[in-house]
Amino acid sequence: MQLHNFSAGPSILPKEVMHQAAEAVKELDNSKLSLIEISHRSKAFIDIMDEACERALKLTGLKDKGYKALFVQGGASLQFLMAAYNLLEKKAGYLNTGTWSDKAIKEAKLFGEVIEVSSSKDKNYNYIPKDFTVPSDLDYLHLTTNNTIFGTQYKSIPETNAPLVADMSSDIFSRAFDYSKFDLFYAGAQKNMGPAGTTLVIVKESILGKVSRMIPSMLDYKIQASKDSMFNTPPVFAVYTSMLNMRWIEAQGGIEALGIKNGTKATLIYGEIDRNSKFEGFANKEDRSDMNATFNLTDPSLADAFDGLCQAAGISGLKGHRSVGGYRASMYNALPIDSVEILVDCMQTLEKNY
Ligand SMILES: *Cc1c(COP(=O)(O)O)cnc(C)c1O
Repeated sequence: MQLHNFSAGPSILPKEVMHQAAEAVKELDNSKLSLIEISHRSKAFIDIMDEACERALKLTGLKDKGYKALFVQGGASLQFLMAAYNLLEKKAGYLNTGTWSDKAIKEAKLFGEVIEVSSSKDKNYNYIPKDFTVPSDLDYLHLTTNNTIFGTQYKSIPETNAPLVADMSSDIFSRAFDYSKFDLFYAGAQKNMGPAGTTLVIVKESILGKVSRMIPSMLDYKIQASKDSMFNTPPVFAVYTSMLNMRWIEAQGGIEALGIKNGTKATLIYGEIDRNSKFEGFANKEDRSDMNATFNLTDPSLADAFDGLCQAAGISGLKGHRSVGGYRASMYNALPIDSVEILVDCMQTLEKNY
C-alpha cells in the first residue's frame, strides 16, 4: 500500500530525489566511487557544493545581491546561538511565537540583552502577534516564519529598521516572497529541503564582522563564508540530497509554483476542518500555516475510530506534537495533493459513520 507521509520532520522528500540520492551513495555519476567515499576537496564534490549554494541563492532571488549561502552542521538549534554569537553586541529583539522561538531566545541571552518584543505564549502560541513596537536600537530582530509545532505562519513580514533574522526551518522554499527583507535566515534541512545533517544559512555579508567578541572558527559565519562551507568536512550526503531537491524545486516551476500548490493543499485541509463537525482547528484562522495544519477532534472519544480510518488509508505521521495534542498534517513541498485528498476522505468518513 502507498503511504501518505504527513510527518513534521524529518519529512517527505520527492521520490525521484530519494532515488537519485540512493544511486549516488552506490555510485556518483559513473565515477565508480560512492558520493560518501570521495574527498570533499575533489572537483566532483566542490561542484556539488557550489551548485547547492548557487541554487539556494537563485531560488530565493538573492543571487548577486550581496548574500552568501552556507551549509553548516548542528541543525537550526545551533543557529539559535550562532546568530547571536555573530550579531548580538548589545541588544536583540525576538518575536516569540512558539517552542523554537523560545529556544532561540534562551540561547541569545547568553550573548547580550534580549527583548521579547511580542509573544503569543498567553494562548499556547495559537496566533501570530501583530500589534507591537520594535525598539529602535536593536542589533537585530529575530522571528520564526513558520511555527512547526503550533501550525502558525507569518503571512506578511513585520516592517522594521533593524536587521531581520529568521528561522525558516519549516517553510524554506515553500512560497515566494521578498527574501531580501532578511539579513540572515536559516533552515535545518530536514523539514522542507533534504535529510537531517545540514542547515542552510543565507546571510547578507555586509552585516558580518561587527561584534567585538572573539568567535570560535566553526561558529564564525565570516570564516565559514570565506571557506565556502568547507572549513571542515561538510555533511556530503545531506548537502548533495538538498541540492538534488533544489533541482527538483526548479523543475516544478520554482518556489512560486510550489507556493500555489501548497496554498491549494492548505485550502483543502482547512476547508474540511472548518466544515466538518467532528474537527476543530487549533491555530487562529488568519495565521494558519500552509505547512503544518494543527487540529483536534471535537469529541476525543472518536480518536480510535479516526486513527483506524487513517491507518487503513495509509496515512502516516499525523500525530500532533505533545504540546498541542490532536493532529498535525505537515504538507511540505513534496507532499502530493492526493495525500491531502485522502486525509479529507478519512475525515468525511468519520463524520458520516459516527
Ligand atoms: C525543527 C525545527 C527546529 C529545530 O531544528 P534542528 O535542526 O533539529 O535543530 C528549529 N526551528 C524550527 C522552526 C523547526 O521546525
